[in-house]
Amino acid sequence: QFNERGQELDKDGRAVHKKPGLLKLFSLAREEAPLLAGGLTAMLLSSGAQIVAPLFFGKVVDAALRSMSDLNQTVLILLGIYIGGALATMVRAWLFVLAGQRMVARLRRKLFGAVVSQEIAFFDTNRTGELCNRLASDTQVLQNAVTVNISMLSRYVLQIIGSLAFMFALNPSLTGKYVQKKRKEFQDRLADAGTQAEEALSSIRTVRMFSGEEKVKELYGIEVDRSYKVGKKLALAQGTFDGAIGTLAYGAVSLVLWYGGKLVNEGTLSAGVLTSFLLYTLQVAIAFGLISSLYGDFMQAVGASIRIFSLLERMPEVANDNGQILPSLSGDVEFKSVRFTYPSRPDSEVLKGISFTVEPGEMVALVGPSGGGKSTIVSLIERFYDPDSGIIYLGGHDLKSLDPQWENIAYGCVATDEEVEEAARQANAHDFVSQFKDGYDTLVGERGVRLSGGQKQRVAIARALIMNPVLLLLDEATSALDAESEHLVQEAIDRAMKHRTVIVIAHRLSTVRNASKVVVIDKGVIAEMGTHDELLKQNGVYKRLVLRQLTAGSVEPTAL
Ligand code: ADP
Repeated sequence: QFNERGQELDKDGRAVHKKPGLLKLFSLAREEAPLLAGGLTAMLLSSGAQIVAPLFFGKVVDAALRSMSDLNQTVLILLGIYIGGALATMVRAWLFVLAGQRMVARLRRKLFGAVVSQEIAFFDTNRTGELCNRLASDTQVLQNAVTVNISMLSRYVLQIIGSLAFMFALNPSLTGKYVQKKRKEFQDRLADAGTQAEEALSSIRTVRMFSGEEKVKELYGIEVDRSYKVGKKLALAQGTFDGAIGTLAYGAVSLVLWYGGKLVNEGTLSAGVLTSFLLYTLQVAIAFGLISSLYGDFMQAVGASIRIFSLLERMPEVANDNGQILPSLSGDVEFKSVRFTYPSRPDSEVLKGISFTVEPGEMVALVGPSGGGKSTIVSLIERFYDPDSGIIYLGGHDLKSLDPQWENIAYGCVATDEEVEEAARQANAHDFVSQFKDGYDTLVGERGVRLSGGQKQRVAIARALIMNPVLLLLDEATSALDAESEHLVQEAIDRAMKHRTVIVIAHRLSTVRNASKVVVIDKGVIAEMGTHDELLKQNGVYKRLVLRQLTAGSVEPTAL
């Protein structure tokens, strides 16, 4: 999916470059250098304690064989070492986790910023579930990596001498790689199941309407089964791996015990030295177990960072800045031979050469069978997408030369309470809003008050009025409202249309009658264009649409 930067992609659409991912991983951690340095110092101290502890363990055994006072003294030293080590461990864990948290918070903000500024076409091809996943879990994996890979590095340095011999004896890489592969596969399958669930749940109304529960349960079941199958293999492989490591570790300990015991028996080795030796052997074995499992986490982090960076560095295709900012703009619009294909559906051209003009203050109605391209035309004016060829002029300027941020500036505009109330009155929304307990502060949507269809439309109109745009783009709802609501909405729309340029995707006869120009869009081309009366005389597509009351779109149950 991220191939526009010329990166090589594997079959999952992930960029195949490991080294940059690794380097960037460290560059991300760089800002936390002071915390990490502190953590590293603490880690050296705790590792040091861990390394000398077995030595004193052995000394304790020898001291016990000598005298009571010797024993007490050595035990005290050992205790001191342990307490010091525990404190250092505490500081180490605290500083590393803190650094990780700070990094992940920073990264999440950056990543969200990068996602939000992508062009709309990006969201056609990237599922929201997947993107949210990246925000949540990939960044989490990275956080772990800060802690993990640095501790791993130091462990390597500290224990490398004692461990080298074991490395050859163990050779865990073969089993390790298999577990690694399975683990990744398992994660992928799990993600598939998650996506499936999210899709079904986010469109639960549609699912319910068509009684599709059994179907989505089945689809989800298939995905879960797939991940379970990989999970089963993973469990066995992991078990074998852990078992093998355990056997080798105990084998090594037994060997040391046997050989050491023999030397003690012969009187050439003290019992204390043997004890120390045994503990060291155990420690090295445990370190190996840890390193091999850390390796898995580490590779996972590299994968996560590659995905995150491919997003962070992705340039939106509709440029988000560097455009012209004009002091003011007139609302006239011109389409000149505009052709357009959705990037997510490259095989079907949606607009095949559209040309029309809208004069300032004019009201133009777009009509036509559903799927003809009306909404696409509006999306292009909103600059969700750029045309493949042809030009769209807004106020005489090529839309591409304007700064999209500036075009949409009104989205973030601040209105006073009075302005909000005035707009709501104009939109026939004031009455029902004032009846809510919290009035204009009412929270709406899933976690708040549910608005009816008609109320939602009136709120939308009020919002548009606050922006006071020179050009108003309207999409008449096809869903049926009750007569009272219908009347209130219609009145609000009529008021909103006054004194500005309006392009409306029309479904009502009254709207097209009032339009100064009707543009009939059919299969991506302009089939007819003119006033309502002119077009009726032509006896063509428009006449047939009008005969069906222009409701061609609304008789279908739902646009799926
Ligand atoms: P209308 O508004 O006239 O009903 P649209 O502009 O919505 O028509 O759709 C025109 C064509 O473009 C349809 O075939 C539709 O399936 C397709 N289409 C619309 N939106 C998208 C999208 N985001 N990605 C891919 N294809 C789309």
